[in-house]
Amino acid sequence: MLTDYEMVCGIETHVELASKTKIFCGCSTAFGGEPNTHCCPVCLGLPGALPVLSSEVVRLAVKAGLALNCSINLHSHMDRKNYTYPDLPKAYQISQFDEPLCVGGFVTLDSGKRIGITRIHIEEDAGKLVHGSEGTFVDYNRAGVPLIEIVSEPDISTPEEAREYTEKLRLIMRYADISDCRMQEGQMRCDVNLSLRLHGSDTFGTRTETKNINSFGNIVKAMNLEIGRQAAVLDAGGTVIRETMRYDEDANRIVSMRSKEGFDDYRFFPEPDIPRFSIDEAEINDIRASIPELPFEKRERYIKELGLSEYNADHLYRYKNVCAFFEAVINTGATPRNTANLIIVTIFSGFSTEGEKEDFDIRVTAQEMAKLVKYLDEKKISMQTASKTLLSMLETGEGADSFISPEDLTDVDADELLALCQKAVEENPKAADDVRSGTDKAINVLKGHVMKNSRGRADSAEAERIIRSLL
Ligand SMILES: [Zn+2]
Repeated sequence: MLTDYEMVCGIETHVELASKTKIFCGCSTAFGGEPNTHCCPVCLGLPGALPVLSSEVVRLAVKAGLALNCSINLHSHMDRKNYTYPDLPKAYQISQFDEPLCVGGFVTLDSGKRIGITRIHIEEDAGKLVHGSEGTFVDYNRAGVPLIEIVSEPDISTPEEAREYTEKLRLIMRYADISDCRMQEGQMRCDVNLSLRLHGSDTFGTRTETKNINSFGNIVKAMNLEIGRQAAVLDAGGTVIRETMRYDEDANRIVSMRSKEGFDDYRFFPEPDIPRFSIDEAEINDIRASIPELPFEKRERYIKELGLSEYNADHLYRYKNVCAFFEAVINTGATPRNTANLIIVTIFSGFSTEGEKEDFDIRVTAQEMAKLVKYLDEKKISMQTASKTLLSMLETGEGADSFISPEDLTDVDADELLALCQKAVEENPKAADDVRSGTDKAINVLKGHVMKNSRGRADSAEAERIIRSLL
């Protein structure tokens, strides 16, 4: 029975660092390109070619460690991890074994639970096998692309926690410019280590590793499948075998790849071609200072200092470019609330994907947006007019003044608004009665009447207040 077991899970996440060049040579890390064009003797592992560790890669990895609350090892070295596979030209991968750059961090989930981070080390990516009708080819463009591997503690107890943990990792990496984490390009891949044990047991069950999962949805799906599979094995009195699995997205199933290697199989030893290296406190402080406000701190500040609702803060904070735009607008003195509302209600209405919100490629400058928000702040225009104007601005790239007519700008003064509200109540006796007798949505009929007769200039919230007082 599934309910008899609890899950124990740790995740290893490979993240491609945002370095323009590879970890041990000057070759480009650009995605794609003709096969084997971003290669040199170092990334091809030709005899005599000597790797030189990129200082940029070390800095980015340290930055990742600091952003994830790790301690930084002041002295570190690279190791050779030996295995034979056609995508690995040297027959070893240069990685780190017993002296990783960063140790002992954590990510805090919304529940307050911390998922520990055991270590972060740097390593090179392998090449890629391309299977075609004429056979299998190898593209070494990816060989030597710099990666960090972030290893979590086995603190994850549900697939949902796994999803939240990896989403938060991604957000932090992107915010701090450590990686773009474009999962569809393989810039972030997760290996899920998972085992089951009886509730209350304090020994771990045998774990399996499901490798290279490349979306948050697939992490949850693969974990649910693997939990079900292991539970069925245990229920039948069997034992789970330590093995490496793959999640087959098309068939939505878990497939066994091979029995799992132990550390001994890799015959790790220190890389003789790269000297030990160190990093000093001054450099670490320098890197720490380069880390911007992180997403969860930003969310806090938006709520506590700017007075945004949790709803608004939640819709802004995950998108770095949106936050930059929002902050540029409010820095001119526009109110945070109206700015946030216009972004979330009007600008976001034109986006259908998360990617579009992340890119936030719009034709309105922060200055023009600020001008529009200020008209709204000063009640020179209604929210409806502001929203309509903003849509035109987004469409054409022209400024607010191109679309706001003098008529729009004439504020409906208090006497006029009162008269409009009285007229709405008189001309819609049924709606007025409905509101009085508790059918509250009838208020929209009355408000609509006011908005129509003011040609959208009236402040609808103010109109509602007056209508209610009249009733
Ligand atoms: Zn190279």
